[in-house]
Amino acid sequence: MDMFVPRRALFERDALYYPIGKHIYHKMHELGVETSFVGSHNRVTGIPGKTAQEAYFEGKRTLVVGIRRTLDFQTCKPSAHYQLPLVTSCIGECEYCYLNTTLGKKPYIRVYVNIDDILSRAKEYINNRKPETTIFEGSATSDPLPVEPYSGLLKESIEFFGREEFGRFRFVTKFTNVDSLLNVEHKGHTTFRFSINSESVIRKFEHRTPALDERINASVKVASAGYPMGFIIGPIFYYPEWRKEYVQMLESLAQQLSGKLSTPPAFELITHRFTKKAKKNILEVFPKTQLPLDEEERRFKYGQFGYGKYIYPKEQMAEMKSFFQEKIRESFPDSKILYFV
Ligand code: SF4
Repeated sequence: MDMFVPRRALFERDALYYPIGKHIYHKMHELGVETSFVGSHNRVTGIPGKTAQEAYFEGKRTLVVGIRRTLDFQTCKPSAHYQLPLVTSCIGECEYCYLNTTLGKKPYIRVYVNIDDILSRAKEYINNRKPETTIFEGSATSDPLPVEPYSGLLKESIEFFGREEFGRFRFVTKFTNVDSLLNVEHKGHTTFRFSINSESVIRKFEHRTPALDERINASVKVASAGYPMGFIIGPIFYYPEWRKEYVQMLESLAQQLSGKLSTPPAFELITHRFTKKAKKNILEVFPKTQLPLDEEERRFKYGQFGYGKYIYPKEQMAEMKSFFQEKIRESFPDSKILYFV
């Protein structure tokens, strides 16, 4: 995939006092991207969008550069203790993406320039929990990799955690521009995860993201750089060829990674689910979606915060669970499955 070039870039004026902000500003000018200023990265005007579709696609082509002012980090259970706020949203256009329901109608990509403040705050959180280890998640509200060539935020964070005895970092991506992160002193403190899926799921639902073989190639580079690694397989769909295609995916992953991993990978398995609200949003933006969104075919599960989700029925869940447990054990005998939901 080519490097992401936004259609417009909007800056908070003060962001230009920071080296990252200045760098992105010059880069945008070099690339001929239209730039302008906004009062706050939270109240962004100037993105077109009369219809839900236009709002979504224009949002996904807009870069907003600002300063993170709230330095209280959100918790991030169960995979980490805290979210590390670096970037929100992402250039991908996955039809099922949960960010479509949480980021509003115009899911513009926001980058924070005050990385020193953010990492000093992380250090306070780490110190407060010492000698326990504190884990930070860098992709709770984004896929941070596509904007890495402009921001360098992951690189700085990985270096920071490399120096922290009691801090660990993890993030996940579907993207493949990993080269700038390969020679970073990570000291094994950052877990680099890739989100993968069967080829047909990627083709049908994960628009503007790299193909499976490109993701696998990127994961081989990352493994060769000695990072601890993980794979999120999700959302897992139950469709006529699911067994065949997921076996192909796992086999090709195992084959390419053979001999490259320094530690066994960890797998996170997430079956497809949706809420009523998500379904409504998806149908507005992708009216012709082929996502399976028929409530009748699902089991309703009451959620923690009063909203329920539609998950696969018990028998299908059990079938998928034992299938993945078995196939992952065959392809990656030493690996761990962290969860299946
Ligand atoms: S790549 Fe990830 S964050 Fe981006 S749209 Fe797809 S699912 Fe959402």
